[in-house]
Amino acid sequence: MYPASFEYFAPTTLDEALEILGRYDGEAKVLAGGQSLIPLMKLRFASPSALVDVNGVFELGTLTEEGGGLRIGALTRHKACERSELLRGRFGALGAAAPQISDPIVRNLGTVCGSLAHADPQGDWGSVMLAVGADVEARGPDGTRTIPIEDFFQGPFTTALEPADVITAVRVRDPGASAGGTYLKLERKIGDFATAGVAVHVSFANGTVGRAGIALTGVGATNVKATAAENVLAGAKLDDGTIKEAARLAAEAAEPRDDLRGTAEYKRNVVRVFTERGLRAVAEGRSHD
Ligand SMILES: Cc1cc2nc3c(=O)[nH]c(=O)nc-3n(C[C@H](O)[C@H](O)[C@H](O)COP(=O)(O)OP(=O)(O)OC[C@H]3O[C@@H](n4cnc5c(N)ncnc54)[C@H](O)[C@@H]3O)c2cc1C
Repeated sequence: MYPASFEYFAPTTLDEALEILGRYDGEAKVLAGGQSLIPLMKLRFASPSALVDVNGVFELGTLTEEGGGLRIGALTRHKACERSELLRGRFGALGAAAPQISDPIVRNLGTVCGSLAHADPQGDWGSVMLAVGADVEARGPDGTRTIPIEDFFQGPFTTALEPADVITAVRVRDPGASAGGTYLKLERKIGDFATAGVAVHVSFANGTVGRAGIALTGVGATNVKATAAENVLAGAKLDDGTIKEAARLAAEAAEPRDDLRGTAEYKRNVVRVFTERGLRAVAEGRSHD
């Protein structure tokens, strides 16, 4: 099916993009990689009056290191993350997730910020950002806002963004000198969305866990932050008992449903096994590097 007709704009500055979005009063949509929006338009699930293509707004930027953390500008493609040497070690959860997103065609075009804005509960970046700790930077008619990722996802395909907001970047917080993480994803075949996925991130302080982040993909109405599992890890030694208990609590946090990809019980078990595997990988220094 063809999309309904729409106006197309290709601004070269953020101010221009914001002016057009404001003019359409919620009826225009930002176009980034188009890997989620265009399929929705072809199916007529979305029929915006106008598309504001931000691919020429170079000030949005790409992937850079910033004060110990990362700035992932809105033009950062999945592919750039897959290739980046920055996303190793301390940022291993990001580096592990990037090559698991769909297939090379989608990764060449799709953006990290577009994925967050789309807020698909099966989106991989949402879980990764919840695990590592991040802030979404958005600019709208009233200026720039910073939205902690914990407050960003409000429901399936629903975020804290206002209709005329543009995400300019997602900022990954400084995890400290000693940290590691990974992302485990079960998919039925290459290029599929997750049957279940688990992002694991641990920062260490004096040999014990400082901050732990665990978040789940495809097993809830949004990406799920497994807070009880994170809490049991904080301040503890990353030993066998703690890992098993965290994995049990992560599985408890999942709210999976039976579907073509598997039963709820199966997915919950995948979450438990992946959390355990991910934490063991971090404990043994085998996180993505
Ligand atoms: C076949 C296929 C398989 C896929 N598999 C996976 C997968 O395994 N895992 C996964 O995580 N994803 C998967 N995706 C989705 C893919 O990751 C998309 O790239 C991503 O969800 C959206 O990014 P985009 O840049 O393409 O955004 P677009 O499609 O351009 O936009 C998506 C939505 O976000 C909004 N938006 C985009 N950028 C901004 C911005 N800067 N500010 C405000 N709003 C913005 C748009 O208005 C739109 O509502 C798949 C897609 C396809 C087509």
